[in-house]
Amino acid sequence: MYQITLIPGDGIGPDITAATKKIIAAAGVPIEWDEQSAGESAVAAFGTPLPEALIQSVEKNKIALKGPLTTPIGTGFRSINVALRKEFDLYANIRPARTFAGIRSRYENIDLVVIRENTEDLYAGVEHMVGDDAAESIKIITRKGSERICRFAFDYAKKNNRHKVTAVHKANIMKCTDGLFLEVAREVAADYPELEYEERIVDNMCMQLVQKPENYDVLVAPNLYGDIISDLCAGLVGGLGLAPSANIGEKYAIFEAVHGSVPKYAGLDKANPTALLLSAVMMLRYLEEKEAADRIENALAAVIKEGKSVTYDLGGSAKGMEMAEAVIAKMV
Ligand code: NAD
Repeated sequence: MYQITLIPGDGIGPDITAATKKIIAAAGVPIEWDEQSAGESAVAAFGTPLPEALIQSVEKNKIALKGPLTTPIGTGFRSINVALRKEFDLYANIRPARTFAGIRSRYENIDLVVIRENTEDLYAGVEHMVGDDAAESIKIITRKGSERICRFAFDYAKKNNRHKVTAVHKANIMKCTDGLFLEVAREVAADYPELEYEERIVDNMCMQLVQKPENYDVLVAPNLYGDIISDLCAGLVGGLGLAPSANIGEKYAIFEAVHGSVPKYAGLDKANPTALLLSAVMMLRYLEEKEAADRIENALAAVIKEGKSVTYDLGGSAKGMEMAEAVIAKMV
């Protein structure tokens, strides 16, 4: 029996986590969920968006599945998501983007993975005003941070039978920071001669992804470029309702959808559970529950392809839980 922390989250979070939990149970994976609140619901109950009980639960269980959180405005917290990534040193953010048959998107056969550094770069939040009319933000890139994310990307590529890693940078302009990232990427690439390695300047990368996404496989990038490129990739395959992610560190892992809490649909069971479900599938693979992960993913693909029991964003009229039940019905 696995013990896993479950953060239902805010807005549509409780609906999509309930749908996801039901599908995982139907796949026969024995999980005891340790439910914890965070975000807006935690402020109401505990006076803080990030209660100590939640931190202790993740410390104990090492793995969490997380619904989206509404970041309360005016509490002094920059972002609870950023705080969680820092607390557990979740340095690797993995965001796969693949096309499903039946989804209206501009491309077919996209199967990309963006691996984004999750702790450094401009997201370290070291910034200040200089007088009233200027502001400064410090971009931090370290050898250690670059090395562990590049090594993670190459190991990921090897383990998942991928053939190429592309490092994304702007070292032509930011010669120190991105220059260091690129230097380290090249050193790490030399340890993996069996994998193809290439480099793209971030602006060119964006254009290439729009024109020829099928040419790319695993992308590794510092935090800011990784953030932007992974949303671009979500757009290539049909939008945020389909985009999963994993935040992985040495000891801990938190799996969550890329999208937010869509407060306007809170409690309506209208949202698409797919992104969270695919995040849970990533979690099952992390737990080496490959068979259950494959069964769920194949059943979901069949439901999307059929297009009958899908939510509004995929052109259907099913509730989130109805879509979940359709996935369960297709599981063999
Ligand atoms: P959002 O992702 O919540 O919603 C943007 C739009 O995307 C929605 O209006 C909706 O049309 C669509 N959408 C997103 N997820 C969907 C789903 N599962 N099914 C169907 N349609 C879906 O982004 P936002 O409106 O910018 O943010 C709302 C709140 O969420 C904010 O408080 C923000 O801080 C928070 N947020 C949290 C996370 C997280 O917890 N990881 C991520 C992003 C935003």
